Amino acid sequence: MSRVFNFSAGPAALPQEVLEQARDEMLDWHGAGMSVMEMSHRGKEFMSIAEKAEADLREIMAIPDDYKVLFLQGGASSQFAMVPMNLLGGAVGDLSGRADYYRTGSWSKKAIAEAKRFGNVNVVADTESDGKFTTVPAEGSVNFDSDAAYVHYTPNETIEGVEFPYVPDTGDVPLVADMSSTILSRPIDVSKFGIIYAGAQKNIGPAGLTVVIVREDLIGRTMDGTPAMFDYQTHAKAGSMYNTPPTYAWYLAGLVFDWIKRKGGLGAMAEVNQRKAGKLYAAIDASGFYHNPVDPGCRSWMNVPFTLADPALDATFLAEAKEAGLVTLKGHRSVGGMRASIYNAMPEEGVDALIAFMADFEQRHG
Ligand SMILES: *Cc1c(COP(=O)(O)O)cnc(C)c1O
Repeated sequence: MSRVFNFSAGPAALPQEVLEQARDEMLDWHGAGMSVMEMSHRGKEFMSIAEKAEADLREIMAIPDDYKVLFLQGGASSQFAMVPMNLLGGAVGDLSGRADYYRTGSWSKKAIAEAKRFGNVNVVADTESDGKFTTVPAEGSVNFDSDAAYVHYTPNETIEGVEFPYVPDTGDVPLVADMSSTILSRPIDVSKFGIIYAGAQKNIGPAGLTVVIVREDLIGRTMDGTPAMFDYQTHAKAGSMYNTPPTYAWYLAGLVFDWIKRKGGLGAMAEVNQRKAGKLYAAIDASGFYHNPVDPGCRSWMNVPFTLADPALDATFLAEAKEAGLVTLKGHRSVGGMRASIYNAMPEEGVDALIAFMADFEQRHG
């Protein structure tokens, strides 16, 4: 067996130790005589898995007690609708609630489009220039609507590789963050946020699970007409077991949280992530052949897009990289070129191998 270095943006690589543990526990989880996939979500075995996963996530992120952690389905894309439905008040269809949104890339654009179905969306900052997103607004440069129900932003724009180097200060207005591609990459102060949500398939676990961390006072304000499944209160009251949760994905996320603890927590993750990203950007910047378009002050630690001097070489680059065991480097179709996603599970050796391959490719083709 030989495993490749997988630079996919998502679903993304998982830690090999986690996959090995899942393999070892596949047929018979801890003497239960069955796999986790076959267990009742209400049985005591799965309840213990679910509770440990939540406790470990609370520990590694230092989540305060007045926040609920929900293990949901529907992806971050469902949160684009659930956030306004839960926070704007009024009734579905009246569009009277107001919210502020940062527009900094492809994912925030989608969040804005969805929120417009439910309320009055005020775009407080728009960094699009010539059809591209390569920066974020300067800290403190944005004026918020004091009557807004919340402010929404995307701390890491996965497609463009643009990241906020700060957390916006929104005063008393709750801050909502789509952390799909940056959660668990470093320590954060959860108390600065009203809601944090993330699809699991980048830095948490497999696809199918969505983690929502919501301050308790923001639960129970749901718009009239909101379906039960879209109401945070439904899930908070039921411990995320109102209906059948994505049990296997929840279990694997728990194995990842445990792996992060063993590795030294989010401080240790941050150190490695910063080093990985730093050396890859340094290699790109030092070459006249590769280019990253993002403002150096807000380059993502997780998603590193880059172009080749001659786009006609893209296909050769991808084919040769694959031969070298470096896969899924093709950039998003909207940006072109390459993108290396280097989440927690990408070992530093994978980044080193990519940098060495890039130097070799440049020598031969540059
Ligand atoms: C991947 C991603 C999404 C979409 O997630 P789904 O789980 O596929 O809905 C949304 N926002 C960001 C920042 C992402 O990286």
